[in-house]
Amino acid sequence: TMASLKAMDEARSLNIFITETPERALAMAESADASLKAGTHSPMTGIPVAVKDLFCTKGVRTTAGSRILDPFIPTYESTVTANLWQAGAVMLGKVNMDEFAMGSSNETSYYGSVINPWRAGDVQTVPGGSSGGSVAAVAARISPCATGTDTGGSIRQPAAFTGTVGLKPTYGRCSRFGMVAFASSLDQAGPIARSVRDCAIMLGAMAGYDQKDSTCVNTPVPDYEAALSGDIRGLKIGIPREYRVDGMSSEIDAMWQKAMDWLKDAGAEIVEISLPHTHFALPTYYIVAPAEASSNLARYDGVRYGFRAALEAGDGLTELYEKTRAEGFGDEVKRRILMGTYVLSAGYYDAYYLKAQKLRTLIADDFAHAWQKVDAILTPTAPSAAFAFGSKPDPLAMYMNDVFTVPASLAGLPGISIPAALSADGLPLGLQLLGRAFDEATVLKIADVME
Ligand code: GLN
Repeated sequence: TMASLKAMDEARSLNIFITETPERALAMAESADASLKAGTHSPMTGIPVAVKDLFCTKGVRTTAGSRILDPFIPTYESTVTANLWQAGAVMLGKVNMDEFAMGSSNETSYYGSVINPWRAGDVQTVPGGSSGGSVAAVAARISPCATGTDTGGSIRQPAAFTGTVGLKPTYGRCSRFGMVAFASSLDQAGPIARSVRDCAIMLGAMAGYDQKDSTCVNTPVPDYEAALSGDIRGLKIGIPREYRVDGMSSEIDAMWQKAMDWLKDAGAEIVEISLPHTHFALPTYYIVAPAEASSNLARYDGVRYGFRAALEAGDGLTELYEKTRAEGFGDEVKRRILMGTYVLSAGYYDAYYLKAQKLRTLIADDFAHAWQKVDAILTPTAPSAAFAFGSKPDPLAMYMNDVFTVPASLAGLPGISIPAALSADGLPLGLQLLGRAFDEATVLKIADVME
């Protein structure tokens, strides 16, 4: 904990933390010490954790990267963080993120962008998003692990951009209670760490049934660390041909090929598969996610949480709502609310939202068919390495970055990103492994062998 607090001090220029909680960290470290002495510890005891700032933390400001929540001090703790503290982990503070987790570069935070500890020569790069602060805390060696959340790739893509390991569990594996909601049918919490083993240990502490989230599934949490047997002989790994998108860079393609060779050497079988509706995933996601976001974000009205705009004489309730939301939300969040209300509006519901829901089913069916042939699926995590700040001013270009991560999100499946190569500029590149619902163990086992 002392080393982490020192590293936190030294890395301030990266803008990773929104709120630092050193006193709490020291107090938690002390009780971790006590449980180590008493022999009542777990593998997470005393491990410093950086918490993405959309997990509600009792008594500690929670911003979700937005002005509209400032100041919001939750009176309760999210289940995932409560589980971590129960296991003896130590909270270092709350880390930066894209506003309401909407973004792929961490450039939408009200608190400013996080800077990726990895740079290309003199060029500063984005850490990816939305869990940019979480991955940067791990990559900058501030904390051995961090919590992230993934709605359409927000754990996996930033992990790929920073040479860290990030796992999105199956939808329903971790409780969403106390997580600031973005798109409720997609949001899922997961671990980010330096190694597959650390992710396995951390997931074990985060996961589990919770009555407070009706979508949290009551199924046993296996011993993920024990699943890392090192033996993947006979496992079938699918390579979906639709992921060979036009214009995939040769270095990403080469990394993918090399990984297939590693897996074959380790005794796994490589199987070409087809996920025919893949090209619908991005438009489907960017209808479903904003639709749910527009509904979830309706609660920020200037009355219930944090920020309220200054009003003028004669202003009424409507002005209170309008001014608060106009000043409290950033551009990307407003864009999502507009898209979401549009696709849900009476005249367009069938044409957009309903159609997207049907496509979502077809995308999930693609995977269901694939699981009859393979045990896991291997793809690149993102179509590029980390990019420079401001290099994607067009929202559509930014959304394209999620092309490999959103299909599994729509299908609710677990996925991990592991560092697998360096780009020509010396930036990390990631590979993604997807698995069957609630089979994080197989995904972790394969990733561990590849690491
Ligand atoms: N980049 C995607 C988006 O902006 C995914 C974000 C996420 O997973 N939270 O919606």
